[in-house]
Amino acid sequence: MSDDEQTTVLFDGRAELGARPSDVFSFVADHAGLPRWIPGLRRVDVDVSEAQTPGGVGTRRTLRMRVGPPGVEIVTAFEPPNRLAYSATDASLRRLCTNHQAELTCAPTPSGTHLRWTVRAKPSPSWWRRLAARFVFNAACGAGMTNLRKYFLARASDIPLSCRCGLVRGLAIDVSSRRGNRLVCYCDDCQAYARYLGREDIVDPLGGTDVYQTTPSQVEITTGVEHVRCVRLSQKGLVRWYAGCCRTPMGNTLASPRVPFVGVVHCFMDHASDGRARDEVLGVPRAGIQGRYAVGGVPPGAHRVAPLGIILRSLRSLVRAWLAGEHRPSAFFDSITGLPITRPDVLSGGERDELRP
Ligand SMILES: [Zn+2]
Ligand SMILES: [Zn+2]
Repeated sequence: MSDDEQTTVLFDGRAELGARPSDVFSFVADHAGLPRWIPGLRRVDVDVSEAQTPGGVGTRRTLRMRVGPPGVEIVTAFEPPNRLAYSATDASLRRLCTNHQAELTCAPTPSGTHLRWTVRAKPSPSWWRRLAARFVFNAACGAGMTNLRKYFLARASDIPLSCRCGLVRGLAIDVSSRRGNRLVCYCDDCQAYARYLGREDIVDPLGGTDVYQTTPSQVEITTGVEHVRCVRLSQKGLVRWYAGCCRTPMGNTLASPRVPFVGVVHCFMDHASDGRARDEVLGVPRAGIQGRYAVGGVPPGAHRVAPLGIILRSLRSLVRAWLAGEHRPSAFFDSITGLPITRPDVLSGGERDELRP
């Protein structure tokens, strides 16, 4: 009889995770990091002296639990980003079962990764050990899968960017509700901007513009950069970038290339080709701000100006991004001169007032 015929499945779990297989693989294959998601683990000692590659086949990991004897596992397959297999030594399983073989596979899906985790072993002749083995592996692996789902649910992902006609395209990288700020802005300038573009369809019926605030390093323009234009509604206003080809608003930045901020306008995010709803990827808007300018007064649930919580959150994001140097690379400013890639048109006070609601 071969090994396979003697073994039975002790655990078979699957999860749909919102991250790329490479990200999922590097997380689950980080031996020393197992306590981040395997319950009851205190520490993992990793011995790579017999390993073919660091962390690869032959790696011996000793799992020190909060209670009970340590588990000793040897990596038997290491194929990033798709497959990791390992086997717990018979001695460390203490006759619970023998011939243990476990495998984690990461298969790409449109929304991330399909993870499958299977554990097989040769059952013990003793009925209560057979039951105990099932119980132990289902409890530990099941809880581990739940932790992975939680961890990768809130994880970031990429969204394709495209103007309406498709000449300007790009990618918003590593975006999520946690990493950025999705807001609806009702301010008079955002409404004036839609009018300037002749794109009043981009604001909602109350005059709101749905914007996702992120950092320049997370916005990449891959094609059509020659069509990018920008305008400032006043000398000191935001630099509002749009695709000149079809007048699709792209994002708003400050005038300084050193401020790690860009508010990506909703219609530049190509949620249709991404296949996921905007709410699903970015979460629902955190707040409606500048509601005092909305059509028909402050909308229900929106704020007259902006709530303190949102202001603090934005400041915190800015500081974090500033420390991380996420103002570049920037699609909007030249990396050497720091100048805007195209000269902004600046409206006069009269021109702007005419566009305001
Ligand atoms: Zn606004
Ligand atoms: Zn276009």
